[in-house]
Amino acid sequence: MNVPFLDLKAQYEVIHEEIDRAVQKVIESCAFAGGPFVESFENDFARFCECEYCIGVGSGTEALWLALLALGVGPGDEVVTVPNTFIATAEAISFCGAIPVFVDIEESSYNMDPEKFRTFLEVECSRESSSGIVRNRTSGRRVKAVIPVHLYGRTADMDPILEAARGYGLPVVEDASQAHGAKYKGRLAGSLGDVGCFSFYPGKNLGAYGEAGAVVTHDKTLADRVQILRDHGQTKKYDHSVVGWNSRMDGIQGAVLQVKLQYLAGWNENRRRAASRYTRDLSNLEAVVLPDGNRDTEHVYHVYAVRVKNRRGLMEFLDTKGIGCAIHYPVPIHLQAAYRSLGFEKGDFPAAERCAAREVSLPMFPELTPEQTATVTDAVQSFYAK
Ligand SMILES: *Cc1c(COP(=O)(O)O)cnc(C)c1O
Repeated sequence: MNVPFLDLKAQYEVIHEEIDRAVQKVIESCAFAGGPFVESFENDFARFCECEYCIGVGSGTEALWLALLALGVGPGDEVVTVPNTFIATAEAISFCGAIPVFVDIEESSYNMDPEKFRTFLEVECSRESSSGIVRNRTSGRRVKAVIPVHLYGRTADMDPILEAARGYGLPVVEDASQAHGAKYKGRLAGSLGDVGCFSFYPGKNLGAYGEAGAVVTHDKTLADRVQILRDHGQTKKYDHSVVGWNSRMDGIQGAVLQVKLQYLAGWNENRRRAASRYTRDLSNLEAVVLPDGNRDTEHVYHVYAVRVKNRRGLMEFLDTKGIGCAIHYPVPIHLQAAYRSLGFEKGDFPAAERCAAREVSLPMFPELTPEQTATVTDAVQSFYAK
């Protein structure tokens, strides 16, 4: 039996009547760019995230970028994040004219290490008492925000991160692009910091049928700024208060996402069930480090990530068995050619580098059957029995 890494078709087959009807309605009403279908989804998604405001935008990358702009991040500033994330997190910082600064992760959670973040602030930064400006002592630049990423659908350890950031007056932007519906101590991803950013790229836990993203927040001022920025800086038609951009969510995506949002909690539950089958059936293997169970977080398994010995051998073996797998992400951002000018070297973020060298993602999607997960775990077992 072949097991694909991701199967979007399986999901569409279940909901196609509702989806087709929703898309048809958008086309008939010609509400293609922004408009009522987007607004209606924004209301539902704000409620889902237990946030006051939701602003639909063009992509997750633009959600991060516009959120940072709304926080006043600009040329020459620094924004703190982690090196083991999709490159969009860093690109959003760069496209504000700012510079990404990295804090290493905890290997057990793959997420920002709160202790290392606290140390970064205490050792590397100073807070000017009169102005409240936070400055990196080495570079002399202002540090403007921090972006913890809830990688693979597991929330970062937010309480100590929030506490450290608040001690320095730094706003916290959550990159929740992989964590729709994930919880931390009962609170929803996206609602934990000052602003939450989501991607609805098709393969995400809540995926559009094209590109889309959203910003959620409790803060009206921030929400207003993002709303203006995503629509050419317009406060009223042809009244442009700031230089903005076109990052409106399109109507078809709004309608599709509104239909799919109703299923998200159930889909996340199915992902957790598949994950617990993997965990049950692989826990005897010394060569495979499984996702760390943690009572503070309700994982939504965007990715089921393990760290393994002989990764290349395992991936080649799974490929011969028709089982899809992937690496998230093979090269950490600080070692990417695009960021060579930042001057980082191998060894600068050892935990992220170790994860990048050993991580492999097993097939994961809500429709994954027990037969499929058994095919995967049997194959992994037989590879390491050799
Ligand atoms: C997918 C993703 C993004 C970017 O989202 P797009 O919608 O593809 O622009 C940003 N950050 C993380 C962690 C992601 O996984």
